[in-house]
Amino acid sequence: AIADGAAIGDVNLAQFERAQRVIPGGVNSPVRAFRSVGGTPRFMVSARGPYITDAQGREYVDLVASWGPAILGHAHPAVVEAVQRTAANGLSFGASTPAETELAEAVLARLPFLEKLRLVSTGTEATMTAIRLARGFTGRPLLIKFAGHYHGHSDSLLAEAGSGLATLSLPGSAGVTEATAAQTLVLPYNDLDAVRAAFEQNGPDIAAVITEAAAANMGVVPPDEGFNAALADIAHEFGALLILDEVLTGFRVSEAGYWGLDRGYTPDLVTFGKVVGGGMPLAALGGRAELMDYLAPTGPVYQAGTLSGNPLAVAAGLTTLQLADEAVYDRLDVVAETVSSAVSNALSAEGVAHRVQRAGNLFSFVFGDFAAAPRTYAEVQTQEAFRYRALFHAMLDAGVSLPPSVFEAWFVTAAHDDAAVSRILEALPAAARAAAAA
Ligand code: PMP
Repeated sequence: AIADGAAIGDVNLAQFERAQRVIPGGVNSPVRAFRSVGGTPRFMVSARGPYITDAQGREYVDLVASWGPAILGHAHPAVVEAVQRTAANGLSFGASTPAETELAEAVLARLPFLEKLRLVSTGTEATMTAIRLARGFTGRPLLIKFAGHYHGHSDSLLAEAGSGLATLSLPGSAGVTEATAAQTLVLPYNDLDAVRAAFEQNGPDIAAVITEAAAANMGVVPPDEGFNAALADIAHEFGALLILDEVLTGFRVSEAGYWGLDRGYTPDLVTFGKVVGGGMPLAALGGRAELMDYLAPTGPVYQAGTLSGNPLAVAAGLTTLQLADEAVYDRLDVVAETVSSAVSNALSAEGVAHRVQRAGNLFSFVFGDFAAAPRTYAEVQTQEAFRYRALFHAMLDAGVSLPPSVFEAWFVTAAHDDAAVSRILEALPAAARAAAAA
């Protein structure tokens, strides 16, 4: 069968069929499979600035940006040059490098309450390590997370997670033991009463609360004003830690991540990924020295990695952070505002009920009649997701690549110049009509 939107002889379709024979679902990360929007995923061969090109040679304006890392645009010449220069000196040493210290210093300088940083290779490792560290430090077993928040795919964190699990309508994952699942308390987002009640009931056993700095894996659902600060207060009152997950928001929504927009409170551990690796596999966790020194080799909580602090990834991350100046964040904000309001206007012109959800320069849309902005996973799940499917494919056919699920944020880059933005705007009227007709 030919999938939606694919023609006979389509190179992507051939690639997808070939991939499906040797890779589960033909993809190495589930959301790439277009399960929620249908059709044939595009197999990509190159990307530059705001554009990405598929195996068929079709160019798209990209609003996925590798799911966040590419704030400067794809293949920024200075980042590529830094990686090439580093590669010529060796790909991996399995030993410390001066550049790792430089990257740690650059991160710590942006969030002054952090004193030490450990580099890992993925966001999953960063959050997994943060909760092990929280449990090791407090000597307590339980973890609080919020429904619809995604923190990577480690066992404790898959309960009612967003991202690909929202897309596939999975409540969790097979292969996670009940004993492990029972150690994670899942609460509704933006519900401080629920947090307080959980602490009143289980306080002495709760090691930490983990929260996305602004939820962006169920679509964008920002925290209520003061929510993150109140989480810190409640956790600390009961002797627990607050783990702020900035894997997606860190160094993307501001120089100091979402905390930089929010401030006024002090999380105990912060996790980073995506932008901090500049598009290479690198992530990190940071905290005050007393806590971070609980990690091996100074402390009893074990964590390690053959490729941790990989020189190429460090070069990409450090160069990206160095180039991410005020002008970059200003441009990200302008593009986010221009694109999100243009999408909203196009949908309104066709009578498609929706709301724009924003957290800094991250945005997404919920479809349907919402009297107020949805604040929880339960609310966003009631939306008319089929309208996004129609919008997504109309945009893709017109040469604009959106995230292949309504439960994901849209990602702009500072390389989205007026020409790229115009191409998005031109595609919108027809795509909004398709959403209306769905
Ligand atoms: N935390 C958050 C908030 C994320 O958005 C993600 C990935 N989208 C992760 C953790 C996991 O990161 P990774 O995919 O690099 O393991």
